[in-house]
This record gives sequence, structure tokens and C-alpha cells, in this order.
Amino acid sequence: MSKEEQSTDSAVYEELGSYHVNTGEETIHAKRMSGRFRNLKWLTSLSWLVFFFGPYIQYSGRQAILFDFPNRKFYFFDITILPQDVWLLSLVLLFFAILLAAVTSVVGRMFCGYFCFQTIWTDVFTWIEEKLEGKPAARHKLDKAPLSFTKVRIKATKYFFWLLISVFTGISFTAWFTDALQLWVDLFTMQAALAAIITVAMFTVGTFVLAGFMREQVCFWLCPYARIQGVMYDSETILPTYDTDRGEPRGRLKKGGTVEGNGDCISCNMCVAVCPTGVDIRDGQQEGCITCGLCLDACDSVMEKIKKPVGLIRYASLDEMLGKPQLPLFKRLRVLVYIGIMTLALSGIIYGLTHLGALELKVLHERQPLFVLQGDNSIQNKYEIKILNKTDVDEKIKLEVDGPEGMRVRGAENLLHAGMSRVTQYTIFLNIPKKNLTQTQVPVVFRIKMTGQDGEAEYKSMFFGPKQ
Ligand code: SF4
Ligand code: SF4
Repeated sequence: MSKEEQSTDSAVYEELGSYHVNTGEETIHAKRMSGRFRNLKWLTSLSWLVFFFGPYIQYSGRQAILFDFPNRKFYFFDITILPQDVWLLSLVLLFFAILLAAVTSVVGRMFCGYFCFQTIWTDVFTWIEEKLEGKPAARHKLDKAPLSFTKVRIKATKYFFWLLISVFTGISFTAWFTDALQLWVDLFTMQAALAAIITVAMFTVGTFVLAGFMREQVCFWLCPYARIQGVMYDSETILPTYDTDRGEPRGRLKKGGTVEGNGDCISCNMCVAVCPTGVDIRDGQQEGCITCGLCLDACDSVMEKIKKPVGLIRYASLDEMLGKPQLPLFKRLRVLVYIGIMTLALSGIIYGLTHLGALELKVLHERQPLFVLQGDNSIQNKYEIKILNKTDVDEKIKLEVDGPEGMRVRGAENLLHAGMSRVTQYTIFLNIPKKNLTQTQVPVVFRIKMTGQDGEAEYKSMFFGPKQ
């Protein structure tokens, strides 16, 4: 490197000052402490773990949750979604995407701290690490120790448990897309499909590497949400915040009491020691903070010990820290816009769910010709009907049509066959005696009903005749 380049680099380093981001050169061994946010984290992790392992739940004789791509169906308990209903799935995705944005704008990266798979699995992995290798100091010591039988034994045991969890995660993820119990059987009898084996392998390796080794580096460098969450913040967003006015000037406690002139922060570094991403929140809000609240627990426990009020680090907005009044949620335009979109999406979802039946019916009226005068002096209209049978069995369908007196239905004298999970098409003719037609067009209602199980649908159409 030339002298000129060296001096440019030094100038850049000088300008950056003490700003520091751990780029993976050091492994963070965070201290574990109990507290309300730690408990909350366990609780939210548990709810996610139950959801993730949902495919093992059986419901009405089949897997409760299943993305059956080969048969182009999605099962969620009682609900079956076919490609025709994919708009409903899109609305669900839209709802959760906007919910994420709304939550971020109100309480920051709450999702990262409490719900993200990466942070939850990392938490479980590091919990195992602590059980086997000890407290952070012991883990650092073991990392630096020369290779020995004890070190290999401890590390191998840890990797074994990590691998077990990773394999279980890989298989459970794949189970979302295939018969969960059959997948286990197929894998252990070496009869699983290649696609299933590749998916399990990818997710096993991914879990092992991301949760075991990359940890917070995923949040820093790989996660796209971490890159964009800044645009959802404003001065009202509630984030873990260090109360500088109260804490500074910081300084260590002297034996037997506080130091005159010092703030409440006693430089114990407990807040940094517990941080899973290695952030020192006293330096201000940082990109690496995943809003997990563990530093709040740590600092509160210190404050309790030194008999000071808790909350030196607390969830607070910038406006609150500056002494400005906090706007209520319903006055924040950004939040209102998010709530508006979510309400629309939710209305669509509710409409969809309440109108999703086992049967769907569409009726298309033949336009060319609009009607035909028959030799028996009746008017005939032709219709193409499409019956969507969403169930897993072929069905016999009864078709009835409501219309003016004397109306005859041709093409549905016998029960209609509707193949499972597909659309079956029929041509139907309606004939109405000309004398019974009092208007140019009259409403007719097509009704279909399954004979083997519950399921019916109807479609309103029109019958056309000559000008009166
Ligand atoms: S835990 Fe609290 S008292 Fe200790 S260094 Fe952090 S902010 Fe200061
Ligand atoms: S600074 Fe506090 S809230 Fe942010 S990631 Fe670290 S421990 Fe969690």
C-alpha cells in the first residue's frame, strides 16, 4: 500500500471515530439474564415454534396445514384453497406485510426481537451452547484454548445437538409441502423423492450455519427487512433507548456509595454483555439493535441492586426523550394509512372465507344467438355452466333452475358428474313457453347441490326473449 493510500485510510478511520460494527471477526457470547422481556421472548418463541411445527397436526383425518403444490391445493384446517382462490392467499400475504410495517412504525423491530426464526433458532442454539460450554467467559476461554480431547468432546456434543435441531427443522419445513408423517417414513427408508431430500438438506445446512455460526451477522448483512426498516421509523417510534440525561456522566460506583456528580449509569456494561448483537445502546439507536429488550432487563436489575429507579434504558420514542408530547396512534398518518390497507385486506379475507364453499358455480349465457324460437312456440336460451368441485372426491351434483312458470331444463335430467379438485363444464338449455314471457329478460337462478356431502352453490343469470 502506498503512503498516500495509508494516509487516506487513517483519515477515514479518524472520521469514523469509535463507530464499530462487528463484522464477524469476534463471536458474541451474550450473557443470559432473567427478566420480563426475556420471559416475553420465550413466550413468543414458543408460539412461533408451535406454528412452525403445525404440519404435524392432524385435522378431520388429514394434515391440518399443507401446501400441496403438485395438486395445486392449500389446506388450512377446514379451508381448502385452489388456484382460483389464490387472490385470498395474496390478501393474507398483503395483510401480514402491512402488519409488519405497522408494527415496525409503532414499536420498531419487534418482529426481529421476538418472532424472527433467525433470532429464535439462534437463541435456542446459544442456550445449548451455554449448557455445554458454560457462561460467556468460559466460552471465550474454550474458543481460545488449544485443541484438546475435552475441547473436541464438548464442541462435538454441541454440534451434534445443533445438527439434530437442524435436521428436525429441515424435515419440518419440508413437511409443509408434503404428507408430514409419510415424509419421515420415506426419508428413513431411503425412498424420499429427490426434491424432498434436496429441500431437507438445504434447510438443515441453512439452519446449522445461520443459527449456529452466522447468528447476528445474518441480521446485519443478509436480512432485507433490516435494510428497509429505517424508512418505517419516525420520531414517534418506540425503541429501546438509553436515557442520556439521567445516565450521564457515567462512572463506576465507589465502594459504599455513589459518586457525586455522576449520572445513574455505573458503567457496569451489563447492557452490552446481554446484547445478542453486541450493541452498546448507550451510543444511541443503531442498525444492529433488534429491539429484543434484553438490555432493559439487564439494566433494570442493576438499578434495583443500586436502589435507583428502573428504566434508565427503556422503550421510548425520540419525541418522548426530547420532552415533546406523544401523539396518540390514531393521529399518526403513517399508522392510519397502514391500518386502512390492513382493514381493506382483512375485509377481503373475511369475505373470501365466508364465501369459500366446497362447490363453486359459474354460468355463462350464450350470446350468439341470444335466444332461439322453437317449433313448440317456446323460447330457448343456451348456457355454459362450470362446476368447481373443491373436495378430494368425485361428486354427483343435482342441478335445479328457478325461473318463470313452465320453464324446462335440458342437459341436467340426470345427476351431473363433478371431478374432484377441478372444473367440470356442461351445456344447459332452458326453454320457456313464449306466452309465459312477459318481459324481454327475466332472472333465472341456477342451484347445484352435492349428493354425497354438504355443499351447494348458486348463480344468478338472465333469460332473454324477443321484444314484447
Ligand atoms: S446496564 Fe445500565 S448501568 Fe450498566 S452500563 Fe448499561 S446502562 Fe449503565
Ligand atoms: S441493544 Fe438491547 S434491545 Fe437492542 S439488540 Fe441489544 S439487547 Fe436487544
